[in-house]
Amino acid sequence: MILRARTIVTMDGPPIDDGAVVVAGNQIADIGSFAEVHAHHGGEVFDLGEQVILPGLVNAHCHLDYTCLRRQIPPQGSFTDWIRTINAAKASLSTADYIESIRNGFEEAQRFGTTSIGNIASLPHLVSDIGVPPLRTWWFAELIDLRKPIDADRVLRDLRAHRLPSLDVGLSPHAPFTASAELYARVAAIARDQGVCVTTHVAESTEEMQMFASRSGALSEFISGIRPMDAAFGAVTPLAWMLNSCQPDEHWIVAHLNELTGNDLELLAVGPRFHVVHCPRSHAYFRHSRFQLENLRALGLNICLGTDSLASNTSLSMFDEMRAMQRSFASLSPLEILAMATVNGATALNRPNALGRVRAGFTADLIALPISGAGDIFEKIIAFDQPVTWTMIDGTAIPR
Ligand SMILES: [Zn+2]
Repeated sequence: MILRARTIVTMDGPPIDDGAVVVAGNQIADIGSFAEVHAHHGGEVFDLGEQVILPGLVNAHCHLDYTCLRRQIPPQGSFTDWIRTINAAKASLSTADYIESIRNGFEEAQRFGTTSIGNIASLPHLVSDIGVPPLRTWWFAELIDLRKPIDADRVLRDLRAHRLPSLDVGLSPHAPFTASAELYARVAAIARDQGVCVTTHVAESTEEMQMFASRSGALSEFISGIRPMDAAFGAVTPLAWMLNSCQPDEHWIVAHLNELTGNDLELLAVGPRFHVVHCPRSHAYFRHSRFQLENLRALGLNICLGTDSLASNTSLSMFDEMRAMQRSFASLSPLEILAMATVNGATALNRPNALGRVRAGFTADLIALPISGAGDIFEKIIAFDQPVTWTMIDGTAIPR
């Protein structure tokens, strides 16, 4: 099949006007100007007209479990108060609520152009009840051993037993304040031995930093009421503690990193080049310290974007997330921001050679937006605030 459109944004060179993409099976077979492509390939032409084709968007960090909590939790006085409030809200959710929440989340993410999603599941046993997700999904089982031990090997075995068709499974030790050093170490060993994807939240809030650096603050008080403090707490940073506890490799996807000291940056300079997910709107909701984008980029870390959950955000649109990024970091070009939601996310999810670009040999995950007129095409893409008009995942156009 030949897809023709006004412009193809490949993320792999300049945009191609009056362009065409050849899709064979689930793959992109060729790309170029319509005239060139049509001269070399037979097959049906599907003309998308005055639209821009681009790679489907990648949301590298979300929790679809909490889609139903949209606008249910107003910003709290502290991060710890937010944890208490979401815990109370979760206690009132039934299994059916979770399933509906996840399904609605998938539907919304896809409606706004996301074709790949890294989703952290607090109840991984529900995965088979959800059915086949309508977009490419990485299921990360959330691991917390604050109140009782958890067997990461067994959780992973159970998740794999769901026999999810062509989907990735992974593990997510929640955060340094809810997962023990032993749990982090076990997950790192599993990841190394079995090539499993890992994601975790690190150094998200000032309260987390206070807990690790000086055993003070609201989070420290809250957690010390549940379990004894790790001996290292009081003279360390969350990042240093995590790096000491396990040997994360360059495949880990680390969310947030909002609180970093000069020493942390030195550790990152020599440590594993893992991926960093920034969630601009969740970051604004919590009023976290300014994200050290420039320092992290200077260290060569791959920065991608995520929505986080709707318990701290208002939509699952990555376009909304890109616009928030643009508001916070005016020096970034629209192309750089779009890369964070395509190429960089695909790299974080370990598909640098299959997703995030429109390139021959890559998987055909594509979206189209009705954009016309003159002006910077990347600026117009980021400004797009409607449901996308056309989506193809794995070579199959999604009916609307
Ligand atoms: Zn999160």
